[in-house]
Amino acid sequence: MRAFTVIPGHPNSISLDDVPPPPANDGAVVVRALALGICGTDREIIAGRYGWAPPGQARLIIGHESLGRVEEAPAGCGVNPGDLVAGIVRRPDPVPCPACAAGEWDMCRNGLYTERGIKQRNGYGSEHFRVEPDFLIAVDPALETLGVLLEPTSVVAKAWDHVGRIGGRSAAWKPRVALITGAGPVGLLAALLGSQLGYELHVFDRATDGPKPDLARALGATYHIGDLGTLKPDVVIECTGAGTVVLDVLRHTAPDGIVCLTGVSSGGRTIKLDIGGLNREMVLENHVVFGSVNANRRHYRAAAEALAKADKSWLSRLITRRVPLARWREAFEQRPGDIKVVADFSGA
Ligand code: BGC
Repeated sequence: MRAFTVIPGHPNSISLDDVPPPPANDGAVVVRALALGICGTDREIIAGRYGWAPPGQARLIIGHESLGRVEEAPAGCGVNPGDLVAGIVRRPDPVPCPACAAGEWDMCRNGLYTERGIKQRNGYGSEHFRVEPDFLIAVDPALETLGVLLEPTSVVAKAWDHVGRIGGRSAAWKPRVALITGAGPVGLLAALLGSQLGYELHVFDRATDGPKPDLARALGATYHIGDLGTLKPDVVIECTGAGTVVLDVLRHTAPDGIVCLTGVSSGGRTIKLDIGGLNREMVLENHVVFGSVNANRRHYRAAAEALAKADKSWLSRLITRRVPLARWREAFEQRPGDIKVVADFSGA
């Protein structure tokens, strides 16, 4: 079967290789791939800046935003042949730490977790893959290939879940205004969940044309370019990872506001910052700034529900290119107007 593989640490080593069928110890359920979402993490891995091969192997099968159809499953395991499914990315560390032991591998304490397609486990970017039944999430069949958005949605479902838990520190906190920075796939999915939660939404991005402004407005959001003016959001989900944007949102947060950082910055850029002034404002206004990565089973389930009730025509506009395997290199290019690019395994 064919699979996207890289040599981690080696820039541009990606190829579509013939590899052996997935080994039985990857899990009892055999899934036939339909689509694979490509994200910034994949591009980092391809650039040689992130990613780890499985122990003893030189190459890593990449891909963690999966969608496929079950081909073989043990009776009574929770999924059946024909089901539309997506695989969970992270696996608990083997120690396990208290978080992983409680099923919260997204909060792993010792860093020994593994991730399909990213860290020491082969991913889902292959014509067939195997998964443990417990690490598969059923996708609403009505979503069809839009189900490939499940993994990035799980990441923002966790972000919103944690915002709510942190907000629970004050019984009187009734957040009304939310700002999402970055109108890429993660930002727009964060905005979708924010709209389902009933927030007055604001979306900030650099793009002046292309599909992003309309997609944000279709959720009822105000679309901001340039600066945030006098906006004082109660909640910010920061999805750009850009230092200047991060700093800007820290200065715009309302009293008792919560800022969730989800963008992984590349680092290496220095910005002058009055940390004392920032500290003063954060203390005097009870601000919380927290980072959020990955998702556990609860978040995948919440994401599956959120996608099932979302407007399908809106979701389909997030997928701006579907690239067949015959032209696979194009799936890893970044083009103007791209939101989510998907490698299409359905005709393979
Ligand atoms: C994935 C997460 C993963 C993170 C760090 C992201 O792109 O969506 O599941 O934990 O990368 O490896």
